[in-house]
Amino acid sequence: MEENVRDVDTGSEAGREEALVGNVNKLMVTPTGYTGVSRKSHLVFDACFESGNLGRVDCISEFEFDLFIRPDTCNPRFRVWFNFTVENVQETQRVIFNIVNFSKTKSLYRDGMSPVVKSTSRPKWQRLPAKNVYYYRCPDHRRNYVMSFAFCFDREDDVYQFAYCYPYTYTRLQHYLDSLERRNLDYLQREQLGLSVQQRRLDLLTITSPAKQKKLVVLTARVHPGESPASFICQGVIDFLVSQHPVAVILRDHVIFKIVPMLNPDGVYLGNYRCSLMGFDLNRHWQEPSPWVHPTLHAVKQLIVQLSQDAVSPNLQPASNICITHFIQ
Ligand SMILES: [Zn+2]
Repeated sequence: MEENVRDVDTGSEAGREEALVGNVNKLMVTPTGYTGVSRKSHLVFDACFESGNLGRVDCISEFEFDLFIRPDTCNPRFRVWFNFTVENVQETQRVIFNIVNFSKTKSLYRDGMSPVVKSTSRPKWQRLPAKNVYYYRCPDHRRNYVMSFAFCFDREDDVYQFAYCYPYTYTRLQHYLDSLERRNLDYLQREQLGLSVQQRRLDLLTITSPAKQKKLVVLTARVHPGESPASFICQGVIDFLVSQHPVAVILRDHVIFKIVPMLNPDGVYLGNYRCSLMGFDLNRHWQEPSPWVHPTLHAVKQLIVQLSQDAVSPNLQPASNICITHFIQ
């Protein structure tokens, strides 16, 4: 029998979980020992789509399933974000899903947050009712934190999708930026600041009106892929800054906004929680980013260094006015 080694750092079982390198792909889960033909109610799990994440499913009983988050690519220490679909359900089928391998103990799930769900016939995300969600230390999983939720499927032909929080994908950002660009605003410029390891765009927006003597604000979002609320905030900030709101007009007159809406596009695409494709927490590598290993971070740092050098020119205020944030820790 395989011996699981407890990881002191994360309190998790190493060994088996480290073997989880891929997402489940249309995986039909039948009760243990079942040898008959497949039928409705044998749930089919899938996470092979953009920002998807589910590594393994264990059938505990007809009603209960242990679900394992697929760790970040090249970094098994991080397991928080999940995003998967379930189909082949039976009407009125009741289930309990247990997410059993979180790497983090502190979680908003402790404070009443609940996961989100949608289905093909109801495409708007909704939060699960908090009364159906339990977050607790589980004796069956070496006292790891487990999040369990009860759910009742109600439409046989629907595909249901569950996620840690509202997803915001790389593709969604590209559609949004394309639509912004089509507005041809003279105070908005979009450029490709660089490319990720997997050759995705690192976008940079510059929002400002033509005038001299400006302060500079640099904003970045999604260095951590699992913090999807940052993208909704970033989009809201951009929408406001390009609007005709009197405050936005004044801001554009006095400030140059440089916005990098997705600093880690590969990590977002892959459904990671915290890391890039190669398993780096980019927010821990600002000191010496490598153009080969952390190309997006390197490009943003180059930009900031360049801007701070430009800031000694008379048209820009000093570099001390530069403010950097990634919105959500
Ligand atoms: Zn963060």
